Amino acid sequence: MPYWGHPRPELARLWYEDGALLWGGTVEDVDGTDGDSLSYAEVECRKQWMSELDFLRKHIPGFGLARVEDSGTSIGVRVTRHIVGEYTYTGQDLLESKEFPDEVAYITPQFLGVPYRCLIPRDVDNLLIASKCISTTPGQTGSSPALGAYNNMKSIPTVMTYGEAAGTAAALCVKMETTPRKLDIQTLQKALKDQGALVDLPTRLQLMDKLKRPDGTSHGESLRKNRENSRQRWEKRGYKFSAER
Ligand SMILES: Cc1cc2nc3c(=O)[nH]c(=O)nc-3n(C[C@H](O)[C@H](O)[C@H](O)COP(=O)(O)OP(=O)(O)OC[C@H]3O[C@@H](n4cnc5c(N)ncnc54)[C@H](O)[C@@H]3O)c2cc1C
Repeated sequence: MPYWGHPRPELARLWYEDGALLWGGTVEDVDGTDGDSLSYAEVECRKQWMSELDFLRKHIPGFGLARVEDSGTSIGVRVTRHIVGEYTYTGQDLLESKEFPDEVAYITPQFLGVPYRCLIPRDVDNLLIASKCISTTPGQTGSSPALGAYNNMKSIPTVMTYGEAAGTAAALCVKMETTPRKLDIQTLQKALKDQGALVDLPTRLQLMDKLKRPDGTSHGESLRKNRENSRQRWEKRGYKFSAER
């Protein structure tokens, strides 16, 4: 079996006393909506980490008596189904830093706002989406051949902001005896702001400029640079921006 694990244990995600948390394995082309496919992936990943253990025991000093203490209870899946919402966030929106009047959450590290309509299913009433399956297009603005948004919108800090927005909206709907689709957006934005959520773009931008990176530059500076690099990459591929920048 090929070695799939972490060739440099010092780069493992987490060290603790006499232990290390290691990358568990990766299986591609799995259908996260299909039980057989998931079972296959789970068995395959367990085989991979057994081979990793074997490698560590044989080749890495200090790991001779290593054993597996624990593992994830089930396999993690990056992409499965998405709700089609009242609005679908696209790669173009991200690339062009589009602003929306109904922003209630935001994408990190880009700090761009996500509209409330992405959390509202187009065809189902009385439901709010509080997770990575909000309404987005597949793909990313990074290296993938197809321009999309999903991969930029599923990190844990980003998904937390969907949760806060959806939870607050649900509470307001109960209080105001209304449905998520009819909820007054300004009331929701005010409630989120009062809780300390970074609903305003200017507030987020100020924060980014204040936060310093280890090299002394601000996060704002680095993000603007990354954004520009990303735009240039897509321009080279023939993407036409709709607005001057
Ligand atoms: C392998 C992998 C590595 C990743 N690495 C990173 C990383 O390094 N950094 C990062 O920011 N993001 C990372 N991500 C992405 C990030 O973890 C997810 O996008 C994010 O956790 C999604 O949050 P969520 O709340 O939508 O779903 P989840 O975190 O999947 O939460 C859904 C929860 O619902 C529970 N659940 C499901 N069905 C039911 C049910 N019927 N009843 C009750 N509960 C139920 C599940 O058990 C789960 O706890 C990674 C994802 C994967 C798969």
